[in-house]
Amino acid sequence: MESYLLQHEPWVRMGAFGLVFLGMALWELLAPRRILAHARVRRWPSNLGIVVLDTLLVRLIVPTAAVGLAIVAAERGWGLLNQLQLPAWLAFVLAVLALDLLIYVQHVLFHAVPALWRLHRMHHADLDFDVTTGARFHPVEILLSAGIKLAAVAALGPSALAVLVFEVLLNATAMFNHGNVRLPAGVDRWLRWIVVTPDMHRVHHSIAPRETNRNFGFNLPWWDRLFGTYLAQPAAGHERMTIGISQFRDPAELRLHRMLLQPFRDEAGGYPLGRGAEAGK
Ligand SMILES: [Zn+2]
Ligand SMILES: [Zn+2]
Repeated sequence: MESYLLQHEPWVRMGAFGLVFLGMALWELLAPRRILAHARVRRWPSNLGIVVLDTLLVRLIVPTAAVGLAIVAAERGWGLLNQLQLPAWLAFVLAVLALDLLIYVQHVLFHAVPALWRLHRMHHADLDFDVTTGARFHPVEILLSAGIKLAAVAALGPSALAVLVFEVLLNATAMFNHGNVRLPAGVDRWLRWIVVTPDMHRVHHSIAPRETNRNFGFNLPWWDRLFGTYLAQPAAGHERMTIGISQFRDPAELRLHRMLLQPFRDEAGGYPLGRGAEAGK
């Protein structure tokens, strides 16, 4: 099973992406949570265009995939988990938990450091919130994350399977929790103990800084509860809340070339954690 998954890695990734994307897109059509403020045709080409760009850039610039590095690390005994003699299942669970915590900490960091926020705010500048928002990240943020992940794999020494499962899971949950989909309130309340739900992550896309700086988790919801960054619902309610940030509200900003330039324009603004606006509002 393990070697089969690793041998067919690109197909596993693309297959999971395609299936989850189509499933979410269909769910959004059948049971939308909010009425979209902008036509899909204005947002989807740019949001999906940036996915293609990100994928190509990572392939060109990053010397090895995290899965490949995990194989090298296992052969050479690099990293904590390759040094400890733990049962395979325990090492697997610890690796997935540690990688997920890393993504949470990295996300907080991208909100806390003004220069990093400039990169990450492109994700927040989407004027609607749907499955394509989940893949809308600036290429420089994607390259930085890839570097951080490689360093973490070298230090932690997770198995290649743990890395692959984690990456496919994160990709799928990111599309799920950005979905403009309706879930019965009771199901959402129960589900958000296990995985970050769309209603939970939508709070993070609110224009209000004190809501933007909550719910940093992308996959497991526990870190926000543990570290005090959890907020259950947006003050204005899900249907009436404003999505986006106060900058870049002109619909022309939804075009790909504008998105790419956003990090280098204007001020960092009042959003970075602990720098004013978010404390008061
Ligand atoms: Zn964010
Ligand atoms: Zn998001």
